[in-house]
Amino acid sequence: MSSKIKSLKYNGKWDFSPSIESIKDISLKKEYQLFINGQFQKPISKKYFPSINPSNEQQLTKIAHAESKDVDLAVNSARNAFNGHWGKLPAKERAKYIYRIARIIQEKSKELAIVETLDGGKPIRESRDVDIPLAAAHFFYYAGWADKLQYAFPNRTPKPLGVVGQIIPWNFPLMMAAWKIAPALATGNTVVLKPAETTSITALLLAEIIQQAELPPGVVNIITGDGSTGELIVNHPDVNKIAFTGSTKVGKSIMQSISSTNKRSTMELGGKAANIIFEDAPLDQAVEGVINGIYFNQGHVCCAGSRLFVQESVYELVLRKLKDRMQSLVVGNPLDKNTDIGAINSKEQLSTINKYIDLGVKEGADIFQLNCELPNGGYWCPPTLFTNVSQSHSIANEEIFGPVLAVQTFRTTQEVINKANNTPFGLSAGVWTDKGSKAFNLASKLKAGVIWANTYNKFDPTSPFGGYKESGHGREGGLHGLSPYLNLE
Ligand code: NDP
Repeated sequence: MSSKIKSLKYNGKWDFSPSIESIKDISLKKEYQLFINGQFQKPISKKYFPSINPSNEQQLTKIAHAESKDVDLAVNSARNAFNGHWGKLPAKERAKYIYRIARIIQEKSKELAIVETLDGGKPIRESRDVDIPLAAAHFFYYAGWADKLQYAFPNRTPKPLGVVGQIIPWNFPLMMAAWKIAPALATGNTVVLKPAETTSITALLLAEIIQQAELPPGVVNIITGDGSTGELIVNHPDVNKIAFTGSTKVGKSIMQSISSTNKRSTMELGGKAANIIFEDAPLDQAVEGVINGIYFNQGHVCCAGSRLFVQESVYELVLRKLKDRMQSLVVGNPLDKNTDIGAINSKEQLSTINKYIDLGVKEGADIFQLNCELPNGGYWCPPTLFTNVSQSHSIANEEIFGPVLAVQTFRTTQEVINKANNTPFGLSAGVWTDKGSKAFNLASKLKAGVIWANTYNKFDPTSPFGGYKESGHGREGGLHGLSPYLNLE
């Protein structure tokens, strides 16, 4: 069969002229301070750390490092705002501020997209078309709920929790900040948020937007630092809830730290999603979905479809189409509008990904990588896929968080359900089939919080997102995203 399968020959005919987004109107400050009580303040520690552009390793700016006393100030300011003006504000007035933030994000979307790309390494097309519009959409969506909570929870009395500590990762910096802050404000809480060390800048631009929207001081505090700053927020006695997105390892340590307190929590942790192609699927569409599922944002996506299961009868055809499509991906300058795969977010993450690629080869899987020239300087990894993968391989079990796909086959529906569920994670999955009944059957049997049918990586503020098992607990987005921020009496 394989000899009859033809390959597409691109031979460089698909080259595009560069189309680089201009950064001439972007002016970053030399130093970014902590946003506490509505003001930008120097850290008491007087410490700063550099923020690096991962596509060229150049320093973009310096970011303040919050230590214990700074965290105290931020939490106290959030508490004062909660006990004061914000706690007494009618819900429809809260909504006006949230709408205002959403509109200013839209107005500044170009600047935000460029900075997100400079700081995080993701392609400008993704920052421009996904991250920033979704961040604004989250604020718009939750603004709408602020004065309708009694309809969301009929016969209950929804009350805010108080001060919420929110810790976010580096893969979708502004979008994660929006996912966290918007529902917290809509439900009447106040916030202390810490962005990830490698991608703090857009959260600080959001702080400027919050200032411009004239949100009362202390309602949102944004403090920067490393994991130790996050730990201080988690362990602060005056924080009522922790909302965390990040690795399962840190999620577990946070759960241990708060286990003897009455702090509430939502945990959005790692994943190892199965993307399943049945023989009756629209194969070209499925291949597009697989590419998007694993190579979107360089695979730095908790719900990335990093395990591909293909029904044996169409395996060779799908693999050929997949490899052909991979050959057309453009890896390079994240500011180029033609770029599909940007820079890996940090040196550390690149070495983690490379460690897994080496392990895949060592454990006996067959590697296929896009044959392309990688830019000089910066952190890069070509799109990679492994075939001849077995269930026991590390690349099939552990979250790599990079552009690395592990391909396996199956014969029957039951077999693929067993294989897909054979993971400690349970965040997301994808099913590609022509049969609605098959999609529904799989959706009820796969142990994952989000299951896409004939599509992948579709996000919408109205739709809940979250995991089972080691992928965490609680939901963000939609109506479900309100209750983790409320006491329902
Ligand atoms: P972490 O879980 O270490 O970081 C997530 C956030 O938590 C960051 O803001 C981080 O700060 C902060 N943090 C780190 N340690 C602590 C702590 N002890 N207490 C409180 N907060 C803490 O993820 P990494 O950024 O190190 O990424 C490592 C791996 O995590 C990735 O390879 C990937 O597998 C997974 N990951 C999963 C994500 C998801 O969405 N599910 C998102 C990001 C990562 P700082 O960045 O300043 O260290």
